[in-house]
Amino acid sequence: MLPLTELDQKYVWHPFTQMQDWLGHEPIVITSGKGATLQDSKGRSYLDANSSIWTNLHGHRNPALDKALRGQLAKVAHSSFLGLTNEPAAKLAGELVRLANPINLSEVMGPDDTLSKVFYSDDGSTAMEVALKQAYQFAQRSGLSASPRFLSLEGAYHGDTLGAVSLGHIDLFHKSYANLLFPTDSVMSPYCYRCPFNRAAPKRADARTYRVCEWECVAKVEEVCATKQAQGEPYTAMVVEPGLQGAAGMIPQPEGWLQQVSKVLRRHGTQLIADEVMTGFGRATVDEDSNGQPVWFASHAEGVQPDFLVLAKGLTGGYLPMAATLTTQRVFDVFLGRYEEFKSFFHGHSYTGNALGSAVALANVELLETKRTRQQRHRLAAALRTESAVLWELPQVGDMRQCGLILAVELVEDWKTRKPLALKDRAGFRVCEAMARRGVLTRPIGNVIVVMPPYCTTPSQVQQILTCLHDSIVEIFPNHPKNSEKLEKH
Ligand SMILES: *Cc1c(COP(=O)(O)O)cnc(C)c1O
Repeated sequence: MLPLTELDQKYVWHPFTQMQDWLGHEPIVITSGKGATLQDSKGRSYLDANSSIWTNLHGHRNPALDKALRGQLAKVAHSSFLGLTNEPAAKLAGELVRLANPINLSEVMGPDDTLSKVFYSDDGSTAMEVALKQAYQFAQRSGLSASPRFLSLEGAYHGDTLGAVSLGHIDLFHKSYANLLFPTDSVMSPYCYRCPFNRAAPKRADARTYRVCEWECVAKVEEVCATKQAQGEPYTAMVVEPGLQGAAGMIPQPEGWLQQVSKVLRRHGTQLIADEVMTGFGRATVDEDSNGQPVWFASHAEGVQPDFLVLAKGLTGGYLPMAATLTTQRVFDVFLGRYEEFKSFFHGHSYTGNALGSAVALANVELLETKRTRQQRHRLAAALRTESAVLWELPQVGDMRQCGLILAVELVEDWKTRKPLALKDRAGFRVCEAMARRGVLTRPIGNVIVVMPPYCTTPSQVQQILTCLHDSIVEIFPNHPKNSEKLEKH
């Protein structure tokens, strides 16, 4: 047999990867993991600073998750969800509904706003397709719209299947498929650091904290919603990544944005589809609610209950591909009828309701609610905040924004001008390559470096990650006078 690296390079085609570059150097082969670390075939150890593409919550080979998976494996791995159900998937639906409807929210929400039905699928993209199709049918069947139309944010990313791509607005990914997509509208995203309405001069702080504006971003949502309604029909739904937009470049919303936007939507009869594929399960907030319970979803941190809650990445703690789309009784009811009315939701996947995925997701929920995990999450949020402060001394650090357990560092030519670095120079990529050589794995989004390690990551591991990021930036930009000074010290 060929060595693994050769087998890979001979036969494998990787996602979101320029394979010409890939074939030009030897890939890292991951062979094992434990907690926040991964090991490769050469025996090197790395910190997993992007939680294996934003999926892992409790670390690798977590004993409780491993045990749940083995336990289910001893019973059955998979059986069809068409015409049958199974123990872990039914239990999980109950748990997801419980988490999605915290008691403190029920005081402000009507009974019709309860997220009470769970539709399973396999990943974030398919879960978005489900929300999209359900919202579409809901609008048509309830007489709200003959030709439903969706609104989403500039730079939005909701997955790679064609419906999800239609909702997205990242030209680089989407332009090539233009003729395959259905039209949707976009509205400005609240990107304080690069907002044309933000009159503040750059400072050494998260741009949200020193912005000077009149909430023009909310006014824009009001404006497009009013225009659409004046043309005859309101938008069917607005699709939002609550808390922060991920693939757009980790763009966090200023506090209060989602709440205001959700009021605008309600006023116009537009539903809210919350894509919490990345932000769910406490990734984007360490807030606690008025009952002292952790807030699991970024929507809830803003006191907002969406009409659709879309979950994937963290659902199984990063173990198996599984997703869920939650919605209300109101939406569910338009699919009810006698068999021959053919109102069923004609959608499903071979692995819908997978027993292994459900079993590990149940264990994930149980683990999330332990005191230990709660402490870990607070500890991690605090460590990300303190250990990242040192990066402000680097002139290439333009904006640094933290949202719960996600930290993003936007690299620029010079912080004083906010001037973007040319994408073709791949600075973000080169910084991440330099980090990998120092034993930390993450992936950039253009020139934004993402740090979102598993919840179990210790403060000293966080320090290691951020020291590594610091030194890697200095290595990639050695000619800056301030940096060369730094280089000698390290
Ligand atoms: C990753 C992601 C998706 C797509 O999920 P996949 O599991 O990769 O299909 C959708 N929305 C958001 C916000 C994501 O981060």
